[in-house]
Amino acid sequence: HNMSSTGGSEDAGRDLCLRLTSRRVPENAAQKDRTGLPFGVTVQPFKPLPHFPVDASALLDPADEVARCGDCFGYVNGFCGLERDGWVCILCGNFSYWSSDPAGDGGKPRYKRNARRNELPEIALPEYEIEVAREVLTVNPREPLGTAPVYVALIDTTAPEETLELVRSAVLAAIEAVGPDALFGIVTFADRIGLFDVQAAAPSVRRVGLGKDGGLAMPLEEALPLRRLLAPVGAFKEELAAAVETIAPAKSRFGSAGFSRLGVDDGMIDGGDGPVGRRAFGPALEATLAWLGADAVEGRGGGRG
Ligand SMILES: [Zn+2]
Repeated sequence: HNMSSTGGSEDAGRDLCLRLTSRRVPENAAQKDRTGLPFGVTVQPFKPLPHFPVDASALLDPADEVARCGDCFGYVNGFCGLERDGWVCILCGNFSYWSSDPAGDGGKPRYKRNARRNELPEIALPEYEIEVAREVLTVNPREPLGTAPVYVALIDTTAPEETLELVRSAVLAAIEAVGPDALFGIVTFADRIGLFDVQAAAPSVRRVGLGKDGGLAMPLEEALPLRRLLAPVGAFKEELAAAVETIAPAKSRFGSAGFSRLGVDDGMIDGGDGPVGRRAFGPALEATLAWLGADAVEGRGGGRG
């Protein structure tokens, strides 16, 4: 199924931050471009699977031992045509030869001339979970910027209080979940962008307005240096949480109710320049990414969102 905060023109749920739709979202490339959002897809069968969810701490077999189709890169499974020298992909019909390379520490190929090939989990089990990649980070506590994982919450304060309440809970849970070594930054946007300085003796919010051309009045780095925005979670968890609790709906000239509907009026995605004012989503996202990216290319490297 598709999940979208923008699809559909029905009034029901117009102020929800998450809506389900059976329509195609985005409907075309032009609409996708107008959203300015990176789209991703998660596919999961509706039927509950007996082995899932698996224990997240369990050590999974590495994916690189499991044979993949030479044409479509599908993984081998029990539905494929298994032959002496190779296999026929159930997804695309391509024939791939079994590799002669030894697998793991066993010294023998995993599939080739393996009399017990049909007992391999990827072939015997209806579902099988493997580890595609594992990321190992080494954080330098004295120079966390560039070595620690970076998370930035970009919060739309044109939303009504009910929605912001959900967002605050989600951000608090995220701060809890990312771990003490991570760096966390809080950025809000409505018709201005707010940068939270939680590391100062007296935490404050720096606000950057929009210029006449719709861009930012000043670069974010000038308003607040990146290393001040990105707080180490281990040392500043309480300050971060306190800052999140202060986030309230932005006021507009026409009251928060009208402001909250910016961007979804008429079911259009590209609202925000309508008669009720401006919402700086595009400039906020663009400036924040440029800010994080600029730091990464300045040689510290590795900064990620
Ligand atoms: Zn294939």
